[in-house]
Amino acid sequence: MNSFLEDTLASLNKAADHLHLKKDVLEVLSKPNKIIQVSIPIRLDSGEMKVFEGWRVQHNDARGPYKGGIRLNPVVSLEEVSALATLMTLKTAVANIPYGGAKGGIACDPKKLSSRELEQLVRGYVHALHKVIGPLTDIPAPDVNVSSEIIAWMVDEYSKLEGATTLGAFTGKPPELGGNSAREIATAHGGYIVLEEVLKQTNWQKSKNETTIAIQGFGNVGGHMARILNNAGYKVVAISGHQGGIFDPNGINTDEALQAKHEAGSLPLNRCYPKSLPQYSHNLLSCETITNEKLLELEVDILIPSALEGVISKENASQIKAKYIVEMANGPVTREAQAILDQKQVIIIPDIIANAGGVVVSYLEWVENRQGFHWKESEVLERMSQHLTENIGMIYTMSESQKINLREAAYILGLGRITQAMKLRGWIPLE
Ligand code: NAD
Repeated sequence: MNSFLEDTLASLNKAADHLHLKKDVLEVLSKPNKIIQVSIPIRLDSGEMKVFEGWRVQHNDARGPYKGGIRLNPVVSLEEVSALATLMTLKTAVANIPYGGAKGGIACDPKKLSSRELEQLVRGYVHALHKVIGPLTDIPAPDVNVSSEIIAWMVDEYSKLEGATTLGAFTGKPPELGGNSAREIATAHGGYIVLEEVLKQTNWQKSKNETTIAIQGFGNVGGHMARILNNAGYKVVAISGHQGGIFDPNGINTDEALQAKHEAGSLPLNRCYPKSLPQYSHNLLSCETITNEKLLELEVDILIPSALEGVISKENASQIKAKYIVEMANGPVTREAQAILDQKQVIIIPDIIANAGGVVVSYLEWVENRQGFHWKESEVLERMSQHLTENIGMIYTMSESQKINLREAAYILGLGRITQAMKLRGWIPLE
């Protein structure tokens, strides 16, 4: 079993003990309801035929239709998708939206495929899954390496097979095709709302411009998070992409860094992005390049891993100096690392609430599609903020009153809601 899945199940186990749940509940949740494996043959531009492997794992739908992203990645595996599907069941319950949890993946490197090949691949994936997904059964969304344009191809393929344009079958669509422009920034905006609430509850005393932040990952989540925090007045001192990062103790101009990344395709590391220095003062520049490993160990107030799972493990946890960690990536802190960081009294805001803004806005997009109306971006962000503020408030209060960490409290909240739904549906005994 992969360690991400093991960690997720161990956290569930602990929450079940806390709630004095019978073994039935854990037995049901330790295995996905359904695993679908598909082989997708496509003709490459070279004329060669190649078959790609893909999965859809439908973990649990007690609270509503399955919901979860699709990731395109060479290293994606059934176990990774299963762990992420389990996490989605908890995330939708913690965010209190009427969905279950699922996840999908195709083992491929989209950067090595032409646009035509990629389109054939994702259309083939939808074709293979058509019978088990849909607006009332399982609603996929984007995850790593899936853009809104890719989702548009998927909607088109699904609609052709249905014989009717079915916008509610997917979320994360382009705004011109039933999407909401809030989706692009939703995950980062949600993370910002949750962080602000935790800083308030924990009585954080430093002013925003003295509060230092390091962000690992500069993609959809990390890039928007950096910009939002910078615009709110926080001091973002380190950012990174897959090749490494930039550290500037005087603060980074995140808009300039995003523009440079946009132009170059990845974050250029051969220059500084000073926040306040005038153009002519380049001899006073204070930035340096750093590795992704060093970024995690910087002396900052807030660390925001926004790229990969498992980056904070027992190997480096004792080197972490941040006082808060916001898990914007899924599963960046391993269970062993959490135990070490708990000892150091680091406050970790767990992924199932920190990055839930994306799925809440996906839910609102689905509601719009099902009703045939449209909310403005600002209305969607406001509704999402209310959802997250309410639920992080409940998690924080529980963690304080029961002297447990925020992850344990979030799992207890989510598991309690899932269990109640399973009881009401008669899947497990009422008592
Ligand atoms: P993305 O593909 O847009 O960006 C990923 C970023 O990570 C890129 O900047 C990339 O350069 C960087 N990266 C890749 N390998 C790295 C490495 N070895 N070290 C450091 N950085 C590396 O993906 P995203 O949508 O921003 O997702 C990032 C994480 O957030 C994932 O764990 C994803 O599951 C999670 N997440 C995303 C959403 C969403 O709405 N996009 C929602 C919830 C959770």
